[in-house]
Amino acid sequence: MAREDMDSEDAPLFRPTRDGYRWDGVAYQPYKQDGSAPFKDISRQVLFHDPAFGCELRYFEMDAAGYSTLERHEHAHAVMILRGHGECLLGTEVRTVKPHDLVTIPAWTWHQFRATVTEPLGFLCMVNQTRDRPVLPTEDELAAMKAEPAVARFLAG
Ligand code: MN
Repeated sequence: MAREDMDSEDAPLFRPTRDGYRWDGVAYQPYKQDGSAPFKDISRQVLFHDPAFGCELRYFEMDAAGYSTLERHEHAHAVMILRGHGECLLGTEVRTVKPHDLVTIPAWTWHQFRATVTEPLGFLCMVNQTRDRPVLPTEDELAAMKAEPAVARFLAG
């Protein structure tokens, strides 16, 4: 494949950070939020997405008390916590997370991240470029998840 057929928006080879969690040439994408949004106060920045990689590396950040969408999908995630503290739901387990912790989210595993109320929670997330759309839990699936007390506490916020 010719170079010009690949990504027409090739990122520069060097993109300095601005304040540690923003980067030159990287769009800051706050998630649109309305009353029904299943997430709160979270933003995404796609750091690397050259098709030659086959994967993307994104940086997600939640404000204090923010949380990501409770979802699952066929594709997997590889996550490294970069800043802050919080909890993550991983299937039927709830884990506390801190900077530099590594989290693998296998296919079809329910997952959600939640920041503490005192500081933002930011993490790197590696994912396949070609991937299926996330699905949200049905009422029955939510009820089944809440059968696990730790999960019920986590989902209650
Ligand atoms: Mn996901």
